[in-house]
Amino acid sequence: MLRGAGVQEDDRMTRFISELAAGIDPYVPGEQPKDRKYVKLNTNENPYPPSVNVTEAIKGAVDDLRLYPDPEVLALRKAIAEYYGNRMPELGGEGIGPEHVFVGNGSDEVLALIMPAFFSGRTIGYADVTYSFYPVIAGLFGVQVRHIPLRDDFSISPEDYAGSNVEGLAGLVICNPNAPTGMALSLADIEQILSANRDRLVVVDEAYVDFGTETAVGLINKYDNVLVVQTMSKSRQLAGMRIGFAIGNPELIEAVNRVKNSFNSYPADRLAIAAGIAAMEDTEYFDETCGKIADTRDRYSKELEGLGFHILPSKSNFLFAEPPALGIKDGTDAAYVFKKLREKGVLVRYFAKPRIDNRLRITIGTDEEMDVLLASIKEIIAEAER
Ligand code: PMP
Repeated sequence: MLRGAGVQEDDRMTRFISELAAGIDPYVPGEQPKDRKYVKLNTNENPYPPSVNVTEAIKGAVDDLRLYPDPEVLALRKAIAEYYGNRMPELGGEGIGPEHVFVGNGSDEVLALIMPAFFSGRTIGYADVTYSFYPVIAGLFGVQVRHIPLRDDFSISPEDYAGSNVEGLAGLVICNPNAPTGMALSLADIEQILSANRDRLVVVDEAYVDFGTETAVGLINKYDNVLVVQTMSKSRQLAGMRIGFAIGNPELIEAVNRVKNSFNSYPADRLAIAAGIAAMEDTEYFDETCGKIADTRDRYSKELEGLGFHILPSKSNFLFAEPPALGIKDGTDAAYVFKKLREKGVLVRYFAKPRIDNRLRITIGTDEEMDVLLASIKEIIAEAER
């Protein structure tokens, strides 16, 4: 390795790094372990495989891989617009076309592009307990953040998103249902926040909306200050494909496009486009699997409560659960249960952070996986009581 003259040993690696890169605190995604097979309930993936139509669509797209994909991702934007167009009467909206839709390489990318498109050099507000990727992209793109604390019961109160709490803010990010709590705001609450903030852009991150909350997509014609962000990683079984999208009025979409075209012209590859269209079109499989996950969630939530867990009311594909007191001396009960579960081959997520360091975030798996989780937890409780 080349070394600059006079550079200290400690600085050897860091002397090339920009102040910006050195100053950020990167997001740490949940583990994707390779050491053994786990019951994997730690990253909110869908336990069911993608629609069989997705497999066929991907096969059909392989021959054209020598060609660049459509930089506009038009066919997939049309499929998304069509899906929501069909639902608009039920959602109370008017019309939606591809001009209302932006597609990115996972919704993390969409959220990241939104920062420079609207908020660089400005201040945004979001909950103190929410998706931990937001501070990272805010930091990267020079966005200041003001926290709007959740209530003591971890709920979001729309009144907290008005008046002096939002003075000076250029925008708000609302995760609905919120992560990692799983708790949802009603559509009326979301509308209350939108109407109280007509001159602020409100980004509604609906990564988990399909598991039991009403989407705000129906409000895009009525409110020009809402941008709804969704993903195909959770309810459409395509975490490995990386497809996210934003829905809002065309001027907002155009602003995100300007940033995207200054960064990566081709956010979705040919396989992703084919897979995404097939997934949007197979509404039957989508409804069936979302329903199954919601049923499993509600059943196992009760089972865990029976074991002494306190669980927040979840509308998502995960539970945020406080374990029963086990009399653990070192650290929290949740940290202990997390570690013991891992030893038994069950992965869940634990955040050693203020307000939430005695809770586990448990992704809803298949019934079989949830049975393994339950049995492992029963063992851990019995072992702790000895
Ligand atoms: N929003 C929330 C609230 C999430 O939990 C996640 C998944 N970590 C995402 C967005 C991003 O998902 P993806 O990039 O896979 O679309």
